[in-house]
Amino acid sequence: MTPTGPSTDVSTTAKRRVLISGASISGPALAYWLHRSGFAVTVVEKAGSLRGGGYPIDVRGTATEVVRRMGILPQLQDAHIDSRRCTFLNADGSVVASVSPRAVAGSAGGQDLEVRRGDLAAILHAMVRDDVEFLFDDSIDTLDQSGQGVDVAFRSGQQRTFDLVVGADGMHSHTREYLFGPEEQFHRYLGYCFAIFTMPNTFGLSRELMLWNTPGKAAALYAVGDNDELHAFLNFHRPEPPSQALRSPGAQRDLVATVFAGAGWEVPGMVNAMRDADDLFFDTAGQIRMPHWSSGRVALVGDAAYAPSFLTGQGSSLALVGAYMLADALATNRDHTAAFAAYERGVREFVVMNQALVDKGAATLFPTTVRALEQRNTKLRDLVTMPSGPAQPAHSALTLPGFAPLP
Ligand SMILES: Cc1cc2nc3c(=O)[nH]c(=O)nc-3n(C[C@H](O)[C@H](O)[C@H](O)COP(=O)(O)OP(=O)(O)OC[C@H]3O[C@@H](n4cnc5c(N)ncnc54)[C@H](O)[C@@H]3O)c2cc1C
Repeated sequence: MTPTGPSTDVSTTAKRRVLISGASISGPALAYWLHRSGFAVTVVEKAGSLRGGGYPIDVRGTATEVVRRMGILPQLQDAHIDSRRCTFLNADGSVVASVSPRAVAGSAGGQDLEVRRGDLAAILHAMVRDDVEFLFDDSIDTLDQSGQGVDVAFRSGQQRTFDLVVGADGMHSHTREYLFGPEEQFHRYLGYCFAIFTMPNTFGLSRELMLWNTPGKAAALYAVGDNDELHAFLNFHRPEPPSQALRSPGAQRDLVATVFAGAGWEVPGMVNAMRDADDLFFDTAGQIRMPHWSSGRVALVGDAAYAPSFLTGQGSSLALVGAYMLADALATNRDHTAAFAAYERGVREFVVMNQALVDKGAATLFPTTVRALEQRNTKLRDLVTMPSGPAQPAHSALTLPGFAPLP
């Protein structure tokens, strides 16, 4: 199948050179579309190789159309986790309800995909690795826009000039900080902290999620396949971010252990596993909200510009859609200022709708009060007999330019 995509600019002779910082989801997706539009693309990634791992991520709505146009929909369908059920538990481990994952997520039945983050990153990388230059184990040190292009000094000592630079370097983007200043200005804390790690699947779980809640606390075990490993997840409500704990892994472990002391179900075993985990990831749930996503010849894409937080489940979808729209804007506007303006015009409303899916302390899966938890549980019991819940309009609110929408 020939992939379809943004219009190509064939009117110029010299290839425009673009440097993308970050090789996860938005970076390689943007690299793919820019290469197809005639740009010479370099991707710099600070990790030594493509990063695997991470919780499963969702590709939904408009983003499904992006991956279809890339020609990778069949591969992603093969990689689809296809969880069988989500079981919600009370404080003592008794079952509240066991429902279809699609019913919980508001997903379009049969179309939305859930894949391991590492699988999506690997599929995207494989699409471009022969056509795009990858610089692993390196990163941007300084950017100088005073000349005709962007003079980039890399940490490795290399110096090169690009026509454009795009930061696809995630929630804690160095490119954003370099251009726009400290993250605090743009970070909207959503009232939760979380710890993710893997632990042995000694529970016999298979392609299913178990979620335990008490007001303000949640513990989840997610078996993405039939294998020996589980994704474990501990989430808790905090009105203010625990700034001290964020600085030290030891303090993070202590904080989580303190918060979950005395909890029921399998939580004590999870806390013990967290203590020994070598892949613990602790962070606050938050969003990046910026008035503009570019400055001069440098723009941001994906989480770097508009992270919606895992609470929306839309991070990877926004990254894929944002990459497509930015490439389309650059392919159709020779002038980068016009292109970046078109990119913002095209994507901002979609971003705003998706970021609005969650409000501070009000995530559906993580109620913070007794009353909110009871209300959530009542709704869940109603979903038991439904294969899918109501589809979220925000997931499909953007129609990609240039081509007919999905039938
Ligand atoms: C290892 C990993 C695990 C993740 N796990 C989860 C998860 O469990 N649940 C979830 O909801 N989301 C997770 N995410 C985030 C999720 O991938 C993003 O929300 C979403 O896909 C948007 O992707 P992105 O490419 O814009 O940003 P990200 O996926 O965050 O990727 C940013 C990339 O930039 C690289 N980078 C960072 N700083 C620099 C720098 N200075 N120079 C060069 N490269 C740099 C990073 O190594 C990374 O490869 C994870 C991301 C990573 C990298």
